Amino acid sequence: MKKKINLLIVGSILGLIALSVIQAYLINNTYKLEKDAFVEETKRAIFRFDENIAEIDSIYETIGDLVINQIIDYKLGRIQKNEFLNGINNVQDSINPRFVELYQNAFKAQGLSHPVKFQKRLKSIVLIDSIANDTLFFKSKKNQTLSLLGETFDIDSAYSINNSQTTTDIERDYMEDGVQKNITFEFQVVTQDYFNIDGWEQEVLRRMSGVLILSIFIFTLVLALLYYSIKSLITQKKIADIKTDFVNNMTHELKTPLATLTLATKMLKKEEIQQQPQLVDSTVQTIERQNKRLQKLIDQVLNNSLGYQEIPLNKETVAIEKYISTVLDDFMLSAKSKNIDLNKTFSIAQKTIDLDKFYITTALLNILENAVKYSEDKIIIDCNIESHSELKITIKDNGIGISDKDKKQVFEKFFRAGNKEIHDVKGLGLGLYYTHQIIKAHNGTIAVESTEGKGTTFILSIPFN
Ligand code: ADP
Repeated sequence: MKKKINLLIVGSILGLIALSVIQAYLINNTYKLEKDAFVEETKRAIFRFDENIAEIDSIYETIGDLVINQIIDYKLGRIQKNEFLNGINNVQDSINPRFVELYQNAFKAQGLSHPVKFQKRLKSIVLIDSIANDTLFFKSKKNQTLSLLGETFDIDSAYSINNSQTTTDIERDYMEDGVQKNITFEFQVVTQDYFNIDGWEQEVLRRMSGVLILSIFIFTLVLALLYYSIKSLITQKKIADIKTDFVNNMTHELKTPLATLTLATKMLKKEEIQQQPQLVDSTVQTIERQNKRLQKLIDQVLNNSLGYQEIPLNKETVAIEKYISTVLDDFMLSAKSKNIDLNKTFSIAQKTIDLDKFYITTALLNILENAVKYSEDKIIIDCNIESHSELKITIKDNGIGISDKDKKQVFEKFFRAGNKEIHDVKGLGLGLYYTHQIIKAHNGTIAVESTEGKGTTFILSIPFN
């Protein structure tokens, strides 16, 4: 059964891990999909207004004209290739702020909830000729391309849109030395648009928040259910074990007195015994003792079905010292083991107390009998009774002791400590539970202190009212 539970726990944990991995994979996929959808949505918004704003078109035209003029200058030998971009840079500086403003306004007008930055970059300008093309500008790496218009941002992490390639035929008149001349050429421009979204991660996560919260909630729920199921299973197993132990212990406890009773009645039937009054007397005494033992066992089982609130107390005023001395003396008389050394010390301020003599006697005897049961060789029991602000009874033995783990459970119903030494000792695990109930019914407390192998001390405290 224990093996089965362990297998179940390991299986469930593995299942949970597998589930978490799948969940993480799905969330990651959702994240990617959400991100792609978000980027796509931004792209579409940019496309929409890129085509519709006249002033932006006119800025593009200005730049286009500039490029054409620079090419003419280059073709006519007025500027060198390395000077070609200078003119473009200069004009770009003056029109770029207006361009950025137009774009920002357009973004706002689109109702985009997130800040977007836009940039148009120049990749190449090539003069096309039937014999040999002349490359005026060409960059293959995106971070080396030339920023034409737009805001500055890290191009490497930006999204690219619109790779536009236009080929234009130009025919222009120009004046040279007072003479009008004509120039024709064809050129190809390749530009690339980029955009960047500040804090896109947060935006994507915000959009995913529903899925995330639901996943965390379901995961926690599954975890809690699993924990609860395993915990209940372990508790059920414990209860089943306790029941089996109880039945075994009970059978064991009942067998001995019953066997003795059978033997004693058989003996009494014999004529030769009947003729010896001494033997009859001792057999009857044995029957009486076993009868008492059976009665006690049955009482223990019956009484233990009661909670402490249901113990019917019948309090009377007792003289503390006299009462406890009598209990201890009676215990010594009835104790089977002769090797007991019982020391008692009294420190009495308040002389009397109201208590239920019958129940408190049972409680004290349970503790004293345990001191004998769970001891070896010479048994030393020290009882210290103090009555100041409350009645405090300390019973200390030199027995086998109780482990720290078991100490917490000794007052639980049916609990018997797991140490090997006690296997031969009979018991139902009800004595201390019952004692605890009795002390609680008197509004008192009971505590245990113990060191394994050295001994155990029980401390009972009962208030005066
Ligand atoms: P029982 O004695 O019938 O088993 P109890 O409720 O009286 O049941 O005690 C519960 C358990 O506490 C015992 O089984 C024993 O393991 C442990 N115990 C109680 N008293 C002592 C003691 N004085 N020394 C060592 N162990 C003790």
